[in-house]
Amino acid sequence: MRDADLHLHTNHSDGTRTPKEVIDLAVSLDLRIIAISDHDNLGAFFEISHYAEENGVMLIPATELSCEVDRVDIHVLAYGFDPTDEAIGAALERFREVRTTRGHRMVEKLIQLGYPVRSERVAELAAGGSMGRPHVARALVEVGAVSSIDEAFQRLLTPGRPAYVPKARFQIADAVRIIRAAGGVTSVAHPSIYPDHARVVRRILEQGVDGVEVYHPQVDEESRAHYLRVAKELGKFVTGGSDDHGAAKTEETIGTIRVPEETLRPMLERIGRG
Ligand code: AMP
Ligand code: ZN
Ligand code: FE
Ligand code: FE
Repeated sequence: MRDADLHLHTNHSDGTRTPKEVIDLAVSLDLRIIAISDHDNLGAFFEISHYAEENGVMLIPATELSCEVDRVDIHVLAYGFDPTDEAIGAALERFREVRTTRGHRMVEKLIQLGYPVRSERVAELAAGGSMGRPHVARALVEVGAVSSIDEAFQRLLTPGRPAYVPKARFQIADAVRIIRAAGGVTSVAHPSIYPDHARVVRRILEQGVDGVEVYHPQVDEESRAHYLRVAKELGKFVTGGSDDHGAAKTEETIGTIRVPEETLRPMLERIGRG
């Protein structure tokens, strides 16, 4: 029986590890089924799929899509689609362009507020991948404006705070359609973190998302039990992963969530990996 971690980030988005480091860590932890789910980005898959195979790791094409419901950010994980699909490639590229413009706008706001952050440094931290608020937060930590990434988010970078700028987001139905057209499936990421989540997640599942991520560091036992019941009731599969971001988010680390292959069987069968 193999163990899986289907939620990992690399330096192609806001994680700090390289794709190779993620594969090497997965091997050392005996995680044999993994998905690198960078935000709006498939770069890691192309970079490392060959190396994963050589090392006996099943690497499932994946991404964590920026979506919205009623103007709230919702993350939808996509798995097992054709990674060369042109519609997906074009949509993700556009989202990344908006992320870059938005990153620079957040820096401008911070400069106006008197924080000595530099756009060039944020771009360097994003390293050509999906630029995000964590890169801006890291730049703020580096200049000593805040003492932690978390403080940067709390004080400056969340909705309602002075340097927040929204990004491009899919409507759920559009995300489902584009992924399904390329042979893939979708799963609601970390379901319990959204405001009014019990109601919102049910609506998302009713809009065609195929599964729900019940195994995640931020999903506590009570929410896990709740979403296991909801998945069963609505005929959805379950997924899980650690949401590792390396040093960008240390409380969620690879190895802390191990999902047995058997638990993922319904999802793996849907993408022809069962
Ligand atoms: P963005 O996609 O640019 O809007 O940034 C959101 C990402 O920032 C999320 O996907 C998380 O990975 C990360 N994030 C959100 N809140 C925090 C926090 N308090 N500390 C560290 N990372 C966070
Ligand atoms: Zn992230
Ligand atoms: Fe997420
Ligand atoms: Fe994530």
